Amino acid sequence: MSEKRDYYDVLGVPKNASSSEIKKAYRKLALKYHPDKNEGDAGAESKFKEAAEAYEVLSNSEKKSRYDQFGHAGMGGASGFGGGMNMDDIFSQFGDIFGGAFGGSRGGGRSRVARGTNLRVKMKLTLSEVANGVTKKIKVNKLVNAEGVTFKDCQNCGGTGRITRMAETFLGAMQTQSTCNVCKGSGKIIDHKPSNADVNGLQRKEEIIEVDIPAGVMDGMQLSVSGKGNAGPFNGISGDLIVVIEEIPHENLRRDGDHIHYDAYVNFVDAVLGVSLEIPMLSGKAKIKVDPGTQSGKVLRLRSKGLPVLQGYGNGDLFVHINVWTPKKVSKEEQKILEKLKKSDNFIPNPDRNDKGFFQRMKDMFQ
Ligand code: ZN
Repeated sequence: MSEKRDYYDVLGVPKNASSSEIKKAYRKLALKYHPDKNEGDAGAESKFKEAAEAYEVLSNSEKKSRYDQFGHAGMGGASGFGGGMNMDDIFSQFGDIFGGAFGGSRGGGRSRVARGTNLRVKMKLTLSEVANGVTKKIKVNKLVNAEGVTFKDCQNCGGTGRITRMAETFLGAMQTQSTCNVCKGSGKIIDHKPSNADVNGLQRKEEIIEVDIPAGVMDGMQLSVSGKGNAGPFNGISGDLIVVIEEIPHENLRRDGDHIHYDAYVNFVDAVLGVSLEIPMLSGKAKIKVDPGTQSGKVLRLRSKGLPVLQGYGNGDLFVHINVWTPKKVSKEEQKILEKLKKSDNFIPNPDRNDKGFFQRMKDMFQ
């Protein structure tokens, strides 16, 4: 592979050029080396591609800063650029820069396939479905290819999907191309269709689609199922099915990212004497021990009993918040007992200053 030229040199702009200077420089080069003006000139074509590549990087602030930092080495596979651009890419990405001088795009005589629209559905999931991942069947009403539709080549464009014209531009006579408006670029039109098919050869149909939901998804997340949306016009490509996740709140457990929180209530006697508690989890139950003399607000952390990390390893934790339940009313007899207990020295609040308070404990936990 020959050594790549510096992108700033290619466009002939200084390193501190503004984005409009970069655009202007590219436009000038693109018009100079445009294939329609330099037919059969391989040198011009490679210059045209080189300029497009430089512009692709320098017009994108993220790619530009990576290039400024690492040079061509920073433009490897991850840049989405690998191995140069072909002519179709250049025209489809930067067609607008020609300002209509070349009709904006070129199809190279190849027809384009029309794409169907995306379908969006909401999917409600319980927290335990989120925890374990789930396969759901959903019923959608979507556009599908109608049966018995036959196609023939579009006569308007001769089956190419594009209309070629000669036009006078400020650069002289130019060949311009545009998408055929009869077949919408597909090169095909409907020859025969049954009465239930629409003008695009499609019909509505209910379909059951199975969707795999990975564990750990969050409310509002959108999953895209490729090719399961509406079928494209004229036997084209189907759009995608977009599944929007809605989480049904759990009656006892609160979600915080991958962690789960649970409020446990113990009565005053159990807090004093200690007790064993059963805690609901996302699947099954856990037993925890509340030590004698436990203060209200203590938090117990059950490691890895939270939600799985989406596209990662391990699980979040389950935090059990111990709350001492204060009775809202007491009988005369209970009141007498309590008054009596109150007189004991053991009932005078005497916080252990070494025992960190609630907020400090929480802070420590999340560090
Ligand atoms: Zn056509």
